[in-house]
Amino acid sequence: MKNIILLGAPGTGKGTQAANIVKWYGIPQISTGDLFRSNIRAGTELGKLAKGYIDAGRLVPDGITIGMTTARLSEADCLEGFILDGFPRSVAQADALDGYLAPAGRAIHVVASIYVEDATIVARLSGRRFCPECGKTFHTVYSPPAEGGLCTACGAGVAQRDDDREATIRERLSVYYSQTAPLIERYRAMGLFVQITGHELVEDTTAEMEAALKGAFGR
Ligand code: AMP
Repeated sequence: MKNIILLGAPGTGKGTQAANIVKWYGIPQISTGDLFRSNIRAGTELGKLAKGYIDAGRLVPDGITIGMTTARLSEADCLEGFILDGFPRSVAQADALDGYLAPAGRAIHVVASIYVEDATIVARLSGRRFCPECGKTFHTVYSPPAEGGLCTACGAGVAQRDDDREATIRERLSVYYSQTAPLIERYRAMGLFVQITGHELVEDTTAEMEAALKGAFGR
């Protein structure tokens, strides 16, 4: 069983690395941000509750987030392992996660955090675009969409996440440092923490992640 948490500020590449880990280990990626966004698109009550917080760059309240995440972790595909991408983001969420897993004899095995400097994060996120049709991601400078802002895969017009605007990015970073970063010490004390450097070349970050997980799991 491989139960992995990916920590790190927004824009450090957690989602990209989670997609790699899915391929290596065949365990599901659970992105709370993606779960919220699909609820918003589907117009659910949960989505309506979450939207204002997300657009403001703040955390969705713990009660809502914890319920949504533990419900997902209860599904059958998570029993052999999971990658939590974007959860926990507060001490209360980390406590709730431990309290949810322990009675079932489950636990977290590795907490990998990706470190990237703030200035790089702001540059990366403010240029980030995505295709609302097929989900492909772009960057205005590093991997631009086709002429006229069109998706290179399916031809739809690309879009920017509302929370990828600069003022919101800065708010998300400040929330990360005040509410999420304290979890680093918690997981370090538990002997679970590994730090990965987010390099300019994604392949370099991927190689570091792969080595760290192989070190932790022995393969
Ligand atoms: P992300 O896609 O991980 O950057 O998440 C986007 C937004 O969803 C965050 O800025 C928060 O508003 C919300 N969100 C995602 N995960 C959590 C969480 N664990 N706790 C509270 N809010 C969250």
